[in-house]
Amino acid sequence: MLNIRIQFLKDEINKHNYNYYINDNPTISDYEYDKLFAELKQIEAEHPELITPDSPTQRVGSVSEKFLPFTHVHRLYSLDNTYNYEDLKKWYEKITQEYGNEIELVCELKIDGLAIALTYENGIFTRGVTRGDGITGEEITQNLKTIKAIPLKLKDNVNLDVRGEIYMPKSSFEKLNAENLEKGEKLFANPRNAAAGSLRQLDSTITAKRDLSMFTYTLVNEGLTNPPKTHYDSIMYMKEQGFKVNPNIRLCKNADEAIAYCKEWENKRFDLDYATDGVVIKVNKIAVQEDLGFTSRAPKWATAFKFPPEEISTVVESIELGVGKTGAITPVANFKPVQLAGSTVSRATLHNFDEIKRLDIRIGDTVLIKKAAEIIPKVIKVVDTPNHEERPIYTPPEVCPSCGHKLETIEGEVNLYCTNPDCAGQIKAKIEFWASKDAMDIDSLGPAVIEQLYNKNMVKNPADLYKLTVEDFMKLDLVQEKSATNLYNAIQQSKNRPLKRFITALNIKNIGKETADILSRAFGTLENLQAADFEKLKELNGIGELTAKDIEKYFQNPRNKQLLEELKSLGVNPEPAEQAKSSKLQGKTFVLTGTLQNMTRNEASDIIKLHGGQTSSSVSKNTSYVLAGENAGSKLTKAETLGIKILTENDFLEMIKEE
Ligand code: NAD
Repeated sequence: MLNIRIQFLKDEINKHNYNYYINDNPTISDYEYDKLFAELKQIEAEHPELITPDSPTQRVGSVSEKFLPFTHVHRLYSLDNTYNYEDLKKWYEKITQEYGNEIELVCELKIDGLAIALTYENGIFTRGVTRGDGITGEEITQNLKTIKAIPLKLKDNVNLDVRGEIYMPKSSFEKLNAENLEKGEKLFANPRNAAAGSLRQLDSTITAKRDLSMFTYTLVNEGLTNPPKTHYDSIMYMKEQGFKVNPNIRLCKNADEAIAYCKEWENKRFDLDYATDGVVIKVNKIAVQEDLGFTSRAPKWATAFKFPPEEISTVVESIELGVGKTGAITPVANFKPVQLAGSTVSRATLHNFDEIKRLDIRIGDTVLIKKAAEIIPKVIKVVDTPNHEERPIYTPPEVCPSCGHKLETIEGEVNLYCTNPDCAGQIKAKIEFWASKDAMDIDSLGPAVIEQLYNKNMVKNPADLYKLTVEDFMKLDLVQEKSATNLYNAIQQSKNRPLKRFITALNIKNIGKETADILSRAFGTLENLQAADFEKLKELNGIGELTAKDIEKYFQNPRNKQLLEELKSLGVNPEPAEQAKSSKLQGKTFVLTGTLQNMTRNEASDIIKLHGGQTSSSVSKNTSYVLAGENAGSKLTKAETLGIKILTENDFLEMIKEE
């Protein structure tokens, strides 16, 4: 029995190694792979007689035959890993038992990319090799020369070898996949695979076009006359020589401090523009490292703590259809519930029917899911599931799942739409949206209450909400006098929300909160906006012809005109907006970071818009300025790297001062 299980595990792991290392296309999550690997290691530890030299536990990685093989002068190892702190403590205790209690550790983020060995002769970059199986790698010097983070010449004329991790920034990965999607080319599962695929290109001009970078984390000491005595110092030395090292490295006195570092980065990592899958914890003193040595595949003086999985596979049990506020039909996959990045996930939107077709998702398939932007679950792809071909291909619906009306397509759009204005699903979605945070922000008016109000024929459009009395709410199931009063008050209080929220709430096609903000600043009042014609609308910065048409069409529609009249007669009067002050910041994009002294970031953002500028949440080449307050974080670092102008609060106030 045990032999059969061992063989199964070896075959599975080898298959996944091939998909991961050679094809750059994994078909299971790292977490699931690590579970298979841990099981094999456990069996082998209990039955050492069953270990064979070809067992995946005895080697690291794989080498492809794409490039010329190169035998490493110094072997490149993998790392042992764990998902729990107990193991980390045990690892530390084992070392302290031997070397005394004061064993300093260095904590580093575990960059989720691919390991590379670089050789410098007389300070000149001469060779770069992938890790491969640790003994032999692929020589890709030409491709590595295209990466700006790799210095071609060092500060000193030294001979040295370093190792580091090549990675692709998350933002560049999203961009690359979006471009590939448009061109109908292969999509990469994650930034690591995108980096590996980009690096192992036979044509280095392709590599040059991809945004790759590298953090250097190991110095091979040999060859230096006065080598650093600690790992930390070696990192500082590499930095001095011109290598890019990760700024978040930390020296820790003991395991508890290292655990605190892991806990801190478990959430903070989401603010970084590169993927990290854990923390690498290394013994600081080189002498102790040398004494501890290596197992067959990993150093004994280092270990990796891995963060809870961000990707996992699960089975699609059904595909449910929802009707949105625009009438668009959205397919949603229901999964067998799984734990993912700290929460139970049982469903994810599939966006539209083109996406189901592109991924060829069939009910019963196993899919790889992840949390996009670390919050919303997203299906990445169907994984190697048996019987996929035998399952029926998913066919999109022809009629609305809510009202049975025939669905329509709109030229140039991927969605299927229900165009029946009396569709129950659509009406409920519109009212839900009306009450939502970015719109009229009516606290406690959630989907369950709206469902009841609609079913009891009390509400058919947003205006009806303002006709409801406390007694009306008390007719609903589970609503007592107190919550009925709260609901009533919340609705009444929404009557004078700022104009930008009111425009958002109207649910005009293509008008999200940003465009609503532009419109409210440009026209100040609802009456002015209603009176604006196509010509006037399209002149506005940020409003294209299509949007201008959609706005005009909305206000000409008799049904909408009636709704606006009704809202007005019920006392819903949006608060007029402050109109633009100048166009000084026209065409300028600001990113705000840190704590400002004289205003909140929201207030600063309002001022920028009043002067015609824009704000964005992430720093890119298109950012004009970064307005940085106290304790500014990674955005400031990124701005510095990209050479973007950084403003203090005073610089900013000076910039917008009245002449
Ligand atoms: P690893 O990624 O778990 O750890 C070793 C590697 O960490 C090093 O080679 C180096 O590349 C990297 N690293 C990043 N930051 C580092 C730092 N600061 N200091 C030192 N090293 C750092 O091990 P591995 O051997 O590269 O790969 C094995 C892992 O790859 C598995 O645990 C699994 O997560 C994943 N994998 C997944 C599949 C799959 O099908 N999903 C298949 C094979 C491997």
